[in-house]
Amino acid sequence: MGKKGFILCVCQGTCPSFTKMDIFAVLSDVRREKIFDYVCLHPQLCVGDGEEFLKVLLSGGETDKLYIAACDPQMQSKMFRDAFEAVSFDKANHIPLDIRNKTTEEAVAAIKELAANNP
Ligand code: SF4
Repeated sequence: MGKKGFILCVCQGTCPSFTKMDIFAVLSDVRREKIFDYVCLHPQLCVGDGEEFLKVLLSGGETDKLYIAACDPQMQSKMFRDAFEAVSFDKANHIPLDIRNKTTEEAVAAIKELAANNP
């Protein structure tokens, strides 16, 4: 069975939208819950090397669903479309979440809810 992956993208860690949360605490809590098969942090998925990261990550075909907590879901769809198309990753299996302006607890709760609603 394919794996469920989770990426937290944080606008280089300098954007005011991410100052309320402890990004490593968010990742640690999510790991502890074992909601996903793997989790990772990326500083800026929407630039060239971020697109490259997505292509490398998904090119083996082992990831069934990719949950991305970052900015606006519609923006995510547009920004990651080329990378998904390049490796034939079905965009329907990209599950986006807007994680901005949340505290650590709010972010973890939102991620859990996202996963529960999109098994
Ligand atoms: S994908 Fe969204 S959250 Fe990530 S760096 Fe780009 S704008 Fe920021």
